[in-house]
Amino acid sequence: MRTAQVLILDGDDTLWENNVYFEQSIEDFIDFVDHSRLTREQVRAALDEVEGLNAGVHGYGSAAFARNLRETYEHLTERDVEPAALDYLMGLARRITEAKLELLPEVAETLEYLQPRHRLLLFTKGQPEEQRLKVQLSGLIDRFDAVVVAREKDVPAYRELVAGHAIDRARAWMVGNSPRSDINPALEAGLHAIYIPHPHTWRLERADLAPANQRLLVLESFGRLREHF
Ligand SMILES: [Mg+2]
Repeated sequence: MRTAQVLILDGDDTLWENNVYFEQSIEDFIDFVDHSRLTREQVRAALDEVEGLNAGVHGYGSAAFARNLRETYEHLTERDVEPAALDYLMGLARRITEAKLELLPEVAETLEYLQPRHRLLLFTKGQPEEQRLKVQLSGLIDRFDAVVVAREKDVPAYRELVAGHAIDRARAWMVGNSPRSDINPALEAGLHAIYIPHPHTWRLERADLAPANQRLLVLESFGRLREHF
């Protein structure tokens, strides 16, 4: 791209690891439930259902996750959670916030390359303090013109971002790993999109990708952005 573009970057599982920590806690949760009749997959499906129902009300992040673990546990064991069990479940959620922030390969050098050439924004969703702490720990804050944390990344949120940050949609690209939160709503809001798949994307972020067109690019790694911008 010869002219400067606006690159709007997702954070979790695009710039840094995130969902892999949730997956580790979920495996330990399934071990802990140790259900006599349900398979691991059925216990996981029960948690997925609770997470899907609660996301609209309680949002995302470790506190929402702790609540979902508790609710699923109560539902599956059909009894109130004992204090010791509750401590364990809260610990599974806390562990995620204590995980060391790990940038994905080539992220730091690619952003360094892109920053003088284009306008970079970070657009992430989740619990605001948790997301802002991650941005701080990432050491990437100076790369961005703005950091925006949304409750949900849906079509209205993209429209609001475009209006609030004077973004020209004709030269703006949303870059992320989630078809549901990054790619499809951004395309629907009139932006271009770059899908960079991550092998451990959260199950609830998966969706059919909008059909390929001139506004959608699929890259196999973050570093490949340097070949296009
Ligand atoms: Mg993501």
